[in-house]
Amino acid sequence: MPYQYDDQNIFARILRGEIPNDTVLETVHSLAFNDINPQAPVHVLVIPKGPYVCYHHFAQEAPEAEIIDFNRAIAEVCRITGVAPDGPGDGFRMISNAGRNGVQEVPHMHVHILGGRALGRMLQPAG
Ligand code: AMP
Repeated sequence: MPYQYDDQNIFARILRGEIPNDTVLETVHSLAFNDINPQAPVHVLVIPKGPYVCYHHFAQEAPEAEIIDFNRAIAEVCRITGVAPDGPGDGFRMISNAGRNGVQEVPHMHVHILGGRALGRMLQPAG
């Protein structure tokens, strides 16, 4: 079934400037901003500006220029925040929740960049 993008989701509203965000980086095709409810000392969300529901939608349908821009934006966010493995923050975790089993809350594609402390093992038991 084709993805249906809801342009009233909160990240769409951030992209339209209807609600504020704490921007870390803006590029031609991507925006990165601090998560409003951080789960680690560094918790940045990186989103494409295009209307993609989830990572799968983006990876499947976005033009190459947007995919390259998005990945370079992630690298730059890691550099800016210091969490790149070759930087002072000593590494990070990248998460993209998708769909119901992935427990995705905001239906605009995003990647969480988490770091600034030891993050423990990858998955906790489902709550
Ligand atoms: P997910 O479960 O992957 O969809 O995560 C959505 C994330 O968006 C959560 O970590 C929220 O804290 C975050 N979030 C929701 N609203 C905002 C907002 N207005 N600004 C920044 N982060 C937000």
